[in-house]
Amino acid sequence: MKQMLELIDVHRTYLIGESTVQALRGVSVTIEQGEFVAIMGASGSGKSSLLQILGLLDNPDKGEYRIFGNNVNTMTEDEQAGVRNNVAGFVFQQFHLLKRMSIVENVRLPHIYSGVAGDFRQQAVERLRQVGLEERIDHTPNQLSGGEQQRVAIARALVRDPLIIFADEPTGNLDTKNSVEIMKIFKGLHEEGKTIIMVTHEPDIAAYALRVITMRDGVIISDERKPGFEAAAVAEKESGFDIHGSGKASLWQDGRFIGFIAQAFQSILANKMRSFLSVLGILVGVASVIAMIALGEGAKAAMQEQMKSMGSNLLSIRGGSAKIRGAAQGAGAVARFTFIDVDEITSLRTLVKSAAGVVTGSGRIVFGNKNWSSSLTGAGFDYGMMRAMIPSVGRWFTREEIQTREKVAIIGVTVVKELFGSTNPLGKTIKINRINFTVIGIAPAKGFSGPQDEDDVVIVPVTTAMYRVLGKDYLSSIFVEVASPALIEQAKSQISTLIIKRHRLKEGDDSFNIRDMTEIQKMLSSTTQTMSLLLGSIAAISLVVGGIGIMNIMLVSVTERTREIGLRKAIGARKNDIMLQFLVESVGLTISGGFIGVLAGIGTSLVLSYFAGWAVKTSLMSVVLATAFSALIGIFFGLWPARKAAELKPLEALRYE
Ligand code: ADP
Ligand code: MG
Repeated sequence: MKQMLELIDVHRTYLIGESTVQALRGVSVTIEQGEFVAIMGASGSGKSSLLQILGLLDNPDKGEYRIFGNNVNTMTEDEQAGVRNNVAGFVFQQFHLLKRMSIVENVRLPHIYSGVAGDFRQQAVERLRQVGLEERIDHTPNQLSGGEQQRVAIARALVRDPLIIFADEPTGNLDTKNSVEIMKIFKGLHEEGKTIIMVTHEPDIAAYALRVITMRDGVIISDERKPGFEAAAVAEKESGFDIHGSGKASLWQDGRFIGFIAQAFQSILANKMRSFLSVLGILVGVASVIAMIALGEGAKAAMQEQMKSMGSNLLSIRGGSAKIRGAAQGAGAVARFTFIDVDEITSLRTLVKSAAGVVTGSGRIVFGNKNWSSSLTGAGFDYGMMRAMIPSVGRWFTREEIQTREKVAIIGVTVVKELFGSTNPLGKTIKINRINFTVIGIAPAKGFSGPQDEDDVVIVPVTTAMYRVLGKDYLSSIFVEVASPALIEQAKSQISTLIIKRHRLKEGDDSFNIRDMTEIQKMLSSTTQTMSLLLGSIAAISLVVGGIGIMNIMLVSVTERTREIGLRKAIGARKNDIMLQFLVESVGLTISGGFIGVLAGIGTSLVLSYFAGWAVKTSLMSVVLATAFSALIGIFFGLWPARKAAELKPLEALRYE
């Protein structure tokens, strides 16, 4: 006979607020392998307390408990979990089946904590056959009667092939017929060699056992063995199992992680609506991040495109110092450009796409009895293209018109409004500084640039402006379109060299200056950057709020599933298993939310671009970042609820109502 379990003067006192309840007051008992023990006694006499200590669901306050010779007091929580998983099987009065799983999955559950790789469905089905439920494997516990549910619980207790079965009032919730069924199963298991320790207060149930221990007020008052115990077949299945090593199975090797993921999604899907509502915050946050970044990027791209069209590769060359705009620095300090300069610059083929001379002045414009002063620009042929000035109403000048100093004019919309009101100006004759011009086009509207109305302009051919209107023989400036933005610096220096040579200037002379648009571009991009930052922080706030929503729902879930956690611990889940299960669940939630959010964000930006005509540009980076961030939120906000779940004591969790 093997000594299996040994209690020496065990005490257990419960604290309820200020008062204490002494449930066990010095219990000493040994149980040998192969015994079938019934623990009897009145309600409140300490039967369950004793069974829980024997089953390692609870530990003594005082006294010693040895299991296979190992002192329980020296075992860690995880080692005890390992023993529960490997050596013990539990059957409770309330069955404790997980409602959202099929019964075969309920039966299989202890394997997930065993540290042994494999599917084990076959073993589960085999155990269900043993209790006569092989026809019902895909049913859920709710579809079963009480007696059937208890049979499932027994199958679950057996699936790890334990040495000992602990049963607390296994027939307490069942009618006589079902009770008899259950007891027949226990009897059979005992005959197979299992040790069975069962709590009951019914004498006819206790009659199945071969040893009856009776308790009263926390002590054993009688302990009787029936004859026939010796005759029971005792399987000499040595545990062969290292109690202190049992807590150390690797998470990654044994496929437990996959099991957790499957279970997490099962529980997420079991509460579809709730899961959806709880990830709404994350969903909206991620969707807005994606949409905002898409819009921001789109706006930036559009702006860059526009900058290019109005000349991000544009240079303007002016006479005079850059520092003292237009003001002459001593005699002859201002370089005077001519068309020869324009031609020479244009001939820098690889660097320069086109160049146009410009002359500016002011004009007094008269139409009928109305007159108006506005700025006058004399423009070369390529100026229209470079500055996006080609009229959409009317036309730009031809090269011939520029050559022959034709008296044709293109007027800005402000001038149109002031002089023509609602009449069509095309083909009309106006006077510019008393010279007759024919209006051939309306310049595209540009709006204001600072205080300056960019639409208050009159554009005429550069030659006409110089020789007929303003009486100048030199250009005010030359606009150059560089072949590509990358060549700007090179073009600047070559043009500079060219001008210095042609005008016989000294190196470092500031009688002319070349400016480009990069300054303006920098300013614009810093504005868009500020905008993106602002939008980004709004999105981040909504993600944090979403995370708090997740934490809330996970806390609710932990509370709601306290008994499930207790059951999982009873069948051998370690702290980390429970922690991981809830973490995987919260990360599963946030990642699902993030995923839907990504789709919603892309959808939103597409809809915006379609209906509002806004440019959008979804970046892969933003999708990756948003998903990664939602996973992080799941970990961060799931950690506390998961820890809370992991810290639960199996006994208290099981008793939770
Ligand atoms: P039995 O199973 O024989 O009915 P228990 O072992 O469950 O008795 O309980 C013994 C005594 O300890 C009872 O008075 C009960 O109220 C008390 N008790 C049991 N468990 C707890 C607990 N978790 N907290 C406080 N008191 C408890
Ligand atoms: Mg009890």
